[in-house]
Amino acid sequence: MSENNTSSNFIKHIIKEDLANGYNEIVTRFPPEPNGYLHIGHAKSIVLNFELADEFGGRTNLRFDDTNPLKEDVEYVESIKDSISWLGYEWDELRYASNYFDEMYNRAVLLIKKGLAYVEDMSQEEIREYRGTLKEPGKESPSRSRSIEENLDLFDRMKKGEFQNGEKVVRAKIDMSSPNINMRDPVIYRIAHATHHNTGDDWCIYPMYSFAHPLEDAIEGVTHSICTLEFEDQRPLYNWVVEQCEMEAKPKQIEFARLNLTNTVMSKRKLKQLVDENFVDGWDDPRMPTISGLRRRGYTPEAIKKFCREIGVARADNLVDVRMLEHFIREDLKLKAPRTMSVLHPLKVVITNYPEGEVEWLDAEINPENEDMGTRKIPFSREIYIEQSDFMEDPPKKYFRLFPGNEVRLKHAYFITCNDVIKDEEGNVVELHCTYDPETKSGTGFTGRKVKGTLHWVEATNAKEAEFRLYDSLILDEKGGSDFLEQVNPNSLEVASGYVEQNMSDAKENDKFQFFRHGYFNVDPNDSTDEKLVFNRIVELKSSFKL
Ligand code: ATP
Ligand code: MG
Repeated sequence: MSENNTSSNFIKHIIKEDLANGYNEIVTRFPPEPNGYLHIGHAKSIVLNFELADEFGGRTNLRFDDTNPLKEDVEYVESIKDSISWLGYEWDELRYASNYFDEMYNRAVLLIKKGLAYVEDMSQEEIREYRGTLKEPGKESPSRSRSIEENLDLFDRMKKGEFQNGEKVVRAKIDMSSPNINMRDPVIYRIAHATHHNTGDDWCIYPMYSFAHPLEDAIEGVTHSICTLEFEDQRPLYNWVVEQCEMEAKPKQIEFARLNLTNTVMSKRKLKQLVDENFVDGWDDPRMPTISGLRRRGYTPEAIKKFCREIGVARADNLVDVRMLEHFIREDLKLKAPRTMSVLHPLKVVITNYPEGEVEWLDAEINPENEDMGTRKIPFSREIYIEQSDFMEDPPKKYFRLFPGNEVRLKHAYFITCNDVIKDEEGNVVELHCTYDPETKSGTGFTGRKVKGTLHWVEATNAKEAEFRLYDSLILDEKGGSDFLEQVNPNSLEVASGYVEQNMSDAKENDKFQFFRHGYFNVDPNDSTDEKLVFNRIVELKSSFKL
């Protein structure tokens, strides 16, 4: 049994009951359509499916629901596999809905032979008109009374490519007056003259999702087919297909509430639009809620999985605060990430009474909350960089950082006092001249006097150039409105050029650090070079969010 699954949910209750009533094994599946990259909502479904099966000693298939050749691509197939593996899950079998096209076709033929399906001549619009509304029953189509022989012949000719897209469809013959609109003779096959990423040009007819999905589940012996709430009304159709197609296995569809996050759009269609219209840098842009984006941002599988477990599984729609996700990455990195100093917007400080050409190496702990991580050496010399925002020429009251005449502590080093402000011709501050007090060295227990401000800094001659990418929400609207492109935040990315400590020279891609006062950062795996490291800010240090 997995230690991850301590909390209970309504699906576990169903499974326990089923096991008590004779089920031998639990089989789940994660069934993405390969028409985009996976997002954090999919992670919720992945965690749920894989961990449920794991907890009850069952298995989970990864199945690509590739029944729509117009939108699917192998690039998506590969990225989906990669994201699931990165999260740390192993699928039992890798399946493709397209592997079952023959069987699905045969099952549709079976329905026709049983008088339970027919070939429809009406157009999409006519079908819609005939379908009726929630208040009014639908009307039966003239095609509904076609003979079985004629239906079989037409379906065969559809398969052979004798008709154009949209010219004919196959519909299940169920009940045009059903209160459930999904049961009013739903379309189960359509014509699409398109090349499929897996089956090439073998087929020009493709099964519709609501017909294909139950068959896929049944073929694989899935016992619990877990999906999101919007499929609830389709459950009667799901059961009808399994039953009437005479499938041996009888999978059970169970719905749960999808994950919605504040300031986030989640549908792949919208995410694709953000990519295609260059609002972001690609599917793995660190601002994207995709698994590959979160990974590049610096999220860990552990943080994502803990978040998914914590939000729970319910049957009511809800909106989760994105700050809750941020909480889990902070928690995960708190003890793991080395702490170092970086300067994002540098201002040069010359320490005029420090010997020229000398460099001393000061001791600093790597993570004060985790002593096992040991200590590091950081250089100190006559020239350092501090943050521009840590100096003000005319400060307001209660400003405790650097200003002319004021003394502050340099983290891990000495007290310094600002004496002179050097400006360029336009009057911009370009350099500060300070003096240090050798008596105040950090770690020597100096108690002579106190200062209120502590600044972070980076020694200048050894400093390593770095780029910092600072992110804000990609979407401004809390709930992600319908015209979401208007809600895209024009200031979601700020790029800063500064410095990191000399000891970061051997940082590797995806290494994670806590930069003093700035937050947690990840070494960007795509854009970092030996000359210049690029850091993505994962999250700031503090949040107002309480669990
Ligand atoms: P989207 O609308 O974002 O494109 P989808 O449901 O069309 O999502 P699929 O590839 O069909 O995407 O989904 C694969 C699985 O992930 C399905 O079982 C689906 O129910 C689940 N899933 C998708 N989005 C979410 C979400 N936001 N929360 C939980 N599960 C989700
Ligand atoms: Mg979909």
